[in-house]
Amino acid sequence: MSSTADAAERPFREALVDLGAVSENVAVLAAVVAPALTMAVVKANAYGHGAVPVARAALAGGADWLGVADLDEAHELRDAGIDAPLLAWLHDPAAAFAPAIDRGIDLGVSSLRQLQAIADAAASVDRIAAVHLKLDTGLSRSGVAPEQWGEATALAAQLERTGRLRVRGIFSHLANTSAAEDAKQLAAFELGLEQAATAGLRAEVRHLASTAAALRLPAARFDLVRIGIGVYGVPPFGDGTTAADLGLRPAMTLRARVAAVRRVEAGTGVSYGHVWRADRASNLALVPLGYADGVPRQASGRAEVWLAGARRPVVGRIAMDQFVVDLGDDHAEVGDEVVLFGDPEHGVPSADDWGDAAGTIGYEIVTRIGPRVPRRYVGGA
Ligand SMILES: *Cc1c(COP(=O)(O)O)cnc(C)c1O
Repeated sequence: MSSTADAAERPFREALVDLGAVSENVAVLAAVVAPALTMAVVKANAYGHGAVPVARAALAGGADWLGVADLDEAHELRDAGIDAPLLAWLHDPAAAFAPAIDRGIDLGVSSLRQLQAIADAAASVDRIAAVHLKLDTGLSRSGVAPEQWGEATALAAQLERTGRLRVRGIFSHLANTSAAEDAKQLAAFELGLEQAATAGLRAEVRHLASTAAALRLPAARFDLVRIGIGVYGVPPFGDGTTAADLGLRPAMTLRARVAAVRRVEAGTGVSYGHVWRADRASNLALVPLGYADGVPRQASGRAEVWLAGARRPVVGRIAMDQFVVDLGDDHAEVGDEVVLFGDPEHGVPSADDWGDAAGTIGYEIVTRIGPRVPRRYVGGA
């Protein structure tokens, strides 16, 4: 990492998103799961990376489908002219399904009530809604409860016959609890598929796996896998497996320029509450990112950054806008590049390292990078 050469043209803080990495990660994962298809999950602004550019890069990498949580996210993609197959699965009880059906957005269905509302909306725009019925196989969040699955599949089959909807998919989601729990959910899903077939449903895509199971549980791949975190090159496992181990490359690099430097005497208290004091005379650098930008305060005194050619400890409390790094007797200049996380193959910390420091996971670290941090895109098609 060079320090000052290109600092002048670089903003104060930025999240650099490598769209080439997004495309390559999708291609790698698509090859692993083939012949299953891939759905790139771009909910939550593509895990903080930027929904529209990431969706385009994922499609360029060979994603067959896009997935989002709610309809606003789906409309954002359609507004941008993205017409790929697209599924949204988490609905406002008052969701306006008609415009979504009109725009060819597939709808996840977790209840009889939603099924009926979608059929009514389809009738109002004289279209056939494409739905994916979701069975709760043990995550206990959304999805039709197993006790109601018979009724839901019967109603769906009846609505298919009236020409109001088509059950294009049947899906569920794993709890990633243990191999034994995954196997139980897999069995429950297979039973649900049989029941749906008995009800007369012929779903084109059956899908269960997200990134973790797509990689480690081939039996869960079915026709389609929903890959979120893998698209971004962040490992799903939390067991020390690196992105490189999986053939993936982190797409986001969070970096800034040093805003101030100072030399302090031994014993000097640093940042709010003086929870850290220099135990020797030391050089400190101020980094202009804080919890307003998604840098977790819980990582105070635990995380590291890359600065002046090495990893350096974050010392004292992380504040709303800034935090302090201890350089010891090494030097940094105002304007030097500081990397919070990126591709650890280059020596910098990973998003997972920050997750470990904050008692959370890499998912949360990348997704919570705030709106004050401009995203800059490189490597797009
Ligand atoms: C977020 C989400 C995914 C993607 O999960 P990853 O672990 O990021 O791959 C898949 N399916 C559903 C239903 C989700 O909510």
